[in-house]
Amino acid sequence: MQKFTRFTASLSTETRGDGWVLIRHEQSFAMYQGNLLHDPDMARYLGDAEYQMTLGLIDDKPCQLVRVREQLDLPGLSWHGLRGLLGHVDDSTFRLLGVAQQLDIWHDTHRFCGRCGQPTQVRLDERAMECSACGNRQYPKLAPCIIVLVTRGEEVLLARSPNFRSGFFSTLAGFIEPGESAEEALRREVMEEVGIEVEQLEYLGSQNWPFPNSLMLGFHARYAGGEIVPQPGEIEEAHWWHVDQLPAIPPEGTISRWLIDCYLARLSGQPEPPVPA
Ligand SMILES: [Zn+2]
Repeated sequence: MQKFTRFTASLSTETRGDGWVLIRHEQSFAMYQGNLLHDPDMARYLGDAEYQMTLGLIDDKPCQLVRVREQLDLPGLSWHGLRGLLGHVDDSTFRLLGVAQQLDIWHDTHRFCGRCGQPTQVRLDERAMECSACGNRQYPKLAPCIIVLVTRGEEVLLARSPNFRSGFFSTLAGFIEPGESAEEALRREVMEEVGIEVEQLEYLGSQNWPFPNSLMLGFHARYAGGEIVPQPGEIEEAHWWHVDQLPAIPPEGTISRWLIDCYLARLSGQPEPPVPA
């Protein structure tokens, strides 16, 4: 797979022909002989482009997303959903594809004005879709979420939702609702999902998470009182786990894992790992 060191999400007006091109059809990205990124000639070869969008700069070269009308079946060509690539591509590539997926879904679901129903058009000077009739502008939206590792000395609270694979546990998370601060959302979510109170909330860092468009705000919070009562339908199991006997937990590169690793590092007096991209 091609390697690059840095992706910068930005609107670039640069149209040099030597940049990167990502090919997407519906929910899948194209790979050719194991490579995700295609040169512009490859993009043309893949057929009709539904539209093209500037994503940003990869190592100072422009990167375009090209959405194609058909999912071609050619020797060496394969198609992959983003979730299936998690853990199989490096962090920079995952972040790039996450940006591409979020902007593609935004574009796809804002073709018409939400106010008057007329078609919209992409603005070239900012990341916006504008109504050709009433001028209403629609911008990509992020959904802020809290994600929290609740701690109690050498124990941490990890829970599983009914749709997790067997034996897999993670930190608690939930969307911030209108009118709430991140801290209020955190206390409410922890109370709703496991029925306990927390104190000493500490914000550690954030991660953009493209399923579908979340901004995860990562916290530690200390147990303050109550017994674990899993929320029916949401939480199948929740337990205190000693840090030396953790169950299957999220992979490296996720903020959930990072919150756990940071706590383990603190307990053992080690430096905390850097926040994942
Ligand atoms: Zn309109």
